[in-house]
Amino acid sequence: MKTINDYLDKYPDSFCPRPFQEMVLWYDRTVKICCVEEVMPNREEVAPNFDISETYRSSPRMQKVRETFLKGKWPKECARCKREEDRGTVSLRSMTSKPRKHKFYNRIIPSIEGSENIKLPMRVEFRVGNACNMKCRMCFPLVSSLLANEFIDNLEEIREEEWAWASGEYNLGAGSLEIENKPHWLEYNKKSLNWIEDSSIDNYMNELENNLDMLEHISENGLYLEWGIIGGEPTVTPAFFNMMEKLSKYEFKKYLILKITTNALVLNDKLMTQFSNVGRVPINISIDAPGKVHEYIRGIPQGSFEKIHNNYKKYRDMTATKIESETGKTTTTIISTVSILSIFSVPDLLDFYEENDFFIRSKVSFQFVENMDLNPYHLPFEMRQEISKKILNRLDQIKMEPTIDNGMISEPHNLRAMMTDLCKKYEDYPERYKKQAEGKMHPLKAFVARTKTLDKIRKQSIHSIDTYGYFNQIINYANKI
Ligand code: SF4
Repeated sequence: MKTINDYLDKYPDSFCPRPFQEMVLWYDRTVKICCVEEVMPNREEVAPNFDISETYRSSPRMQKVRETFLKGKWPKECARCKREEDRGTVSLRSMTSKPRKHKFYNRIIPSIEGSENIKLPMRVEFRVGNACNMKCRMCFPLVSSLLANEFIDNLEEIREEEWAWASGEYNLGAGSLEIENKPHWLEYNKKSLNWIEDSSIDNYMNELENNLDMLEHISENGLYLEWGIIGGEPTVTPAFFNMMEKLSKYEFKKYLILKITTNALVLNDKLMTQFSNVGRVPINISIDAPGKVHEYIRGIPQGSFEKIHNNYKKYRDMTATKIESETGKTTTTIISTVSILSIFSVPDLLDFYEENDFFIRSKVSFQFVENMDLNPYHLPFEMRQEISKKILNRLDQIKMEPTIDNGMISEPHNLRAMMTDLCKKYEDYPERYKKQAEGKMHPLKAFVARTKTLDKIRKQSIHSIDTYGYFNQIINYANKI
């Protein structure tokens, strides 16, 4: 019988272990294979609400995805990972399958129906709702309550704009640009602020508590149950506080890694105490640019960036004590999203990270935004070449030598490959980006138009962050398309 490790060896460039033991509870209360899956499943086929039961795990849809992987092929759901790997960068698949190639996988037989050796998925990602305290320009109203409110409050103005119709990604959902549907979306936003139902959490937690032996056995092999917690923003989501309260009463928390993704704007003392009680709590923090650029992109007041930096230090020190001493690994990861809005500040961001020891005390990771209007692949060729060169030069200057006792240091993950790939000619673009460029509205025109609308609504100006004059050039360029 072949194990997961055998398949990872046989198909290193396509096999993904995630669908065999992991799942994501999505914002709309459905279940996804993983957070970057591209095809939204037919609602009939998925569990309606917080269902990670066997019924879902062995559903025809899940079986088909697993079967495709077992044949060494890419399921259509996994187009994003394939695209990222084709461009030579790291995908969620490669990021998770390689380090997870663990002796534990030698014991899992990846059958089509499911994994035979584990009764429960070992990794569950909870998208705990859309409650959020930021309104990031690359984010979506379905995921941020503040963006949803902004969309609903300014619907009359937004629906007049060509960009709003050119791509549906900044709408609330089908039909949300129609005035008569406004009450429905107001109601939706209230409900999705806090969607995890108590009884569902109880069922799942009880199931885990009844399988303590299995969890203990697995942990002896160095593998832990892992919950990824993502909002909205978990630290402002009441359901998440409930979850933590409940968790404190269960024994299985000994075998749990609680991975929190946060924007770090709020650091709540109660939550810090709850985290300490769980033990293993690595933190992912999103930072896109230093100072006022980050504040502009994320729609937060002046001075917020300093707060975020201070909270990062507190998180880092809290988590460092437990996990780093156990495993020697860093426990805070900084995730920086590179978009048209942030790319020109990346050299300054690298300065900031270097001056403040981020490379030594945390893992620093970069990823491209995929939004049609913010994707840096749509910038003029010469501009892409110029900024890539600046970033690569800056990367070369960063001293990558460990300077503190534990000797940790991390090369900014992915950035080098991303910058090299960004200089591709249009003919060599992934199909998805070509389609974006040939769509109803050119992405750069949409960028300029949407920025103008949001600047007006938020009383901001893109010119306030145009330190190097690039945005002026982009506006002139877009006007000529
Ligand atoms: S290949 Fe990528 S999209 Fe597919 S399940 Fe794995 S991580 Fe998710």
